[in-house]
Amino acid sequence: MAEFSIIETYFNRKRDACVDLGVGDDSALLTPPANQQLVICADTLIAGRHFPLDTSPHAVGWKSVAVNLSDIAAMGAKPQSILLAISLPNIDEEWLQEFSNGLYACCDQYNVSLIGGDTTQSPHLTITVTALGWIETGQAVTRSGAQIDDLIVVSGSLGDAAFALQHLGHPLQRRLDYPTPRCELGQLLKGLASSMIDVSDGLAQDLGHILEASKVGATIELRQLPINIDLSQLSDTMQWKYALAGGDDYELCFTINAQNYKELLQLQPNVKTTIIGKITQECGLTFEKDGLDHPLQLHGYQHFA
Ligand code: ADP
Ligand code: MG
Repeated sequence: MAEFSIIETYFNRKRDACVDLGVGDDSALLTPPANQQLVICADTLIAGRHFPLDTSPHAVGWKSVAVNLSDIAAMGAKPQSILLAISLPNIDEEWLQEFSNGLYACCDQYNVSLIGGDTTQSPHLTITVTALGWIETGQAVTRSGAQIDDLIVVSGSLGDAAFALQHLGHPLQRRLDYPTPRCELGQLLKGLASSMIDVSDGLAQDLGHILEASKVGATIELRQLPINIDLSQLSDTMQWKYALAGGDDYELCFTINAQNYKELLQLQPNVKTTIIGKITQECGLTFEKDGLDHPLQLHGYQHFA
């Protein structure tokens, strides 16, 4: 099967009304909505590094889109389309069909179109998705706006995917294989949150990026961390380590003042949110258990460590 028939068969499903020109020409064409900024990001998944080698191709397809939509959500933006650059070691049509089904399942769920990409052969399966979205000019929620006394809030639960990675076959593997980008919540937070990030490398490390960019500190109350009931047989310390230093959560962590948080709850987001701490003046991240200092040794994911 040649490159062009792979594209035609698996990556050229349907045209979207919001796309002027999609797969098939040298580039795609989009018309930016008036008074909006383009929001754009890319994320690569390498087989064996970002997902276990025996992950189902359907899940790989879903996840390669979802991790990018999570980055768009973390800016408060609305996702619009994706580009797919894929390097395949060989042509396995069954694999490609399932991968394509998973990729389009995520696209359809979030109303996103695949508008182009690149298909190459390489010894190692590598998938890079670029996602595009829009946001009203000046409204993006960045990492640098956290204010002293803001609440620190996270969506969903933390540590599920990291736990599943160590317990493959456990029901929580769904959270590892099929992360849920918090697109609706992200957009609701536009104009309400003071800063935001999506949690992909562990909450402690990712919240650390907000603290650094905003030049503030934070205190986390360990007992408030939203941890799945499935982890409750573990010691407190193990649970906190999964929640704080595990990766692949794809939840949103944001800072928000108390008044705006009330407003958010009135909007009834489609996912649970939990207050886990507070922004402080003293730089650095500290942990408390029942209000008392409780130091923890943690290491988030680092590619070149
Ligand atoms: P060019 O040689 O001009 O870069 P390609 O032959 O790489 O064009 O791609 C042909 C068309 O197919 C382009 O519109 C490109 O965006 C699209 N395309 C290639 N690979 C993919 C893919 N994996 N998914 C979606 N579209 C793709
Ligand atoms: Mg090309």
